[in-house]
Amino acid sequence: MLKAAFPGSFDPPTMGHINIIQRAARIFDRLELIVAENRNKKYLFSAEERVAMLRTLVRDQKNVSVDLCTGLIVDHLEKNGIPLLLRGIRGEGDFAYEFEISVMNRALNRRIETVFMPTDPEYLVIRSSAIKEVASFGGDVSAMVPPLVCEALKAKFSAPRPFSD
Ligand code: ADP
Repeated sequence: MLKAAFPGSFDPPTMGHINIIQRAARIFDRLELIVAENRNKKYLFSAEERVAMLRTLVRDQKNVSVDLCTGLIVDHLEKNGIPLLLRGIRGEGDFAYEFEISVMNRALNRRIETVFMPTDPEYLVIRSSAIKEVASFGGDVSAMVPPLVCEALKAKFSAPRPFSD
């Protein structure tokens, strides 16, 4: 039984994430999506919202599950008996960053291997941060995110926001 975990912020999930999830679900017997909740990061969607969106998006994929992690990813994998950590790569920038993280994770836990999956070309420029920015200005992101995420973004940015200076 080959198990892998795909951790990320998923703030929000995009078609780029879905591409990696669908391809990985065909390779691994079980794929666990891990929603990372890092106290030092600011998210648009709460951890509960990100978990709920992902659960809905993968509900038809029987070998894919979703979990939340508030600590170190390698500790979560160790605890859950998952030996492979999967990360998606969009280009050199991602690779430079991901390579360093993978070396760090290896220093933390030698039993866990990181594997990289290059994105399909149509998702090369899709990233959650850019999508949030475009959506915040009312731009159309419907080609870049699943419909339920598109609706969730509209709801976030149309809700009255507290005034802050
Ligand atoms: P993080 O804050 O951990 O980088 P993200 O949600 O931005 O969280 O990314 C999670 C994973 O998904 C990372 O491995 C990232 O490289 C990958 N990813 C994000 N967008 C894409 C995309 N368009 N194509 C392929 N992989 C992607």
